[in-house]
Amino acid sequence: MTINRVAVVGAGTMGNGIAHVCALAGLEVVLADSDPDALDRGVATVGRNLERQLSKGRIDAADRDGALERIEPATGLERVGQAVLVVEAVPEIAELKYEIFEQLDRLAPPGAILASNTSSISITAIAARTRRPGKVIGMHFMNPVPVMKLVEVIRGLRTDDDTTEAVMSLSRSLGKVPVEVRDFPGFVSNRILAPMINEAVFALMEGVAEADAIDTVMKLGMNHPMGPLALADLIGLDTCLNILEVLHRELGDDRYRPCPLLRQYVAAGWLGRKSGRGFHDYNRDR
Ligand code: NAD
Repeated sequence: MTINRVAVVGAGTMGNGIAHVCALAGLEVVLADSDPDALDRGVATVGRNLERQLSKGRIDAADRDGALERIEPATGLERVGQAVLVVEAVPEIAELKYEIFEQLDRLAPPGAILASNTSSISITAIAARTRRPGKVIGMHFMNPVPVMKLVEVIRGLRTDDDTTEAVMSLSRSLGKVPVEVRDFPGFVSNRILAPMINEAVFALMEGVAEADAIDTVMKLGMNHPMGPLALADLIGLDTCLNILEVLHRELGDDRYRPCPLLRQYVAAGWLGRKSGRGFHDYNRDR
C-alpha cells in the first residue's frame, strides 16, 4: 500500500506537527480543523518551524517551499475523501473521537486507514465505531513532532496485519522509529509518563518543593532532558488531566487519580505553554 495522500484532523499542538513531517516527506496533506483561527495558527506554526529547520541548515529553501505547498488547510472534513491515511489529532475526549471516527468512516475511501494520535483512549473502542475496525490503528507521535523520533504504533484487538505494516513502514519513511504496542490504557508511554507527572504535581501541591526545584531535581538528578512540570506544560495540562482520567477510569486503580491541583489549574485556564501559563509562566518569554 503506497501512502501518498494523508489528511490530519486537528491543527493544534500535535496536528500541525504531523502535517509538517508528512509534507516534508513529500506527502500531499489536507490539514483540517473545525476552528478557523486554530487552523490559521496551525499553518503559521508549520511555517515558523520549517523556518527554524532552514536556519539550522537541516532543510533547504526548496524543502520548505515544497512542504508548505503540499499542505492544504480545510475547515471541514469533506477533503478526507481523497486520503489514503487519516490521522486524527483532536482533543483527548473519547466521545469527541468516537464522533469524528464515525464521520471519517463515512467520508474516507473504503480502503483508507484511520489512525488516531490518542495518548490513552482505547483504539479497539474507537475502531468499534467504524465499519472498518481492521483499518483503525493508533499512531502516537511525540511532542514536538518534527523533533521527536518515536511513533508508538498501537494495534487494536481487530487491527489487521496489513494496516500495522503500512503504518510502521510510513513512520520509518517519515524518519521516525515506530514501536508496536498493544492496546491498553495509556499504552506504554503514558502508562509510565502520566503517573510521574501526576506525582510531581502532588509534590508541588504538598509543598515538598517549588516547581523549578522539582524540575531541576529530575533534570540533574535523573538525567531527564526536561523536568516533569515543564513537560506537563509542553503537553498541555488539559491533555495531561484527560490522560489521567482515562487511566484512573479504565484501570480502576486510585494510584492514577488526578492531583486536585492539576484539576484546579485546568479549571483556571492555565493549560501550560499553549495558554501562556501553567506550572511555569511563559508570558515573560513572549
Ligand atoms: P490541541 O488542543 O492543541 O489541538 C486540538 C485541535 O483539534 C484544536 O486545534 C481544535 O480546534 C481541533 N478540534 C477540536 N474539535 C475538532 C473537530 N470536531 N474537528 C476538527 N478539529 C477539531 O490538542 P493536542 O495537544 O494537539 O492533542 C491532540 C491529540 O494528540 C490528543 O488526543 C492528545 O492526547 C494527543 N497527544 C498530545 C500530545 C501533546 O504533547 N500535546 C502528545 C502526544 C499525543
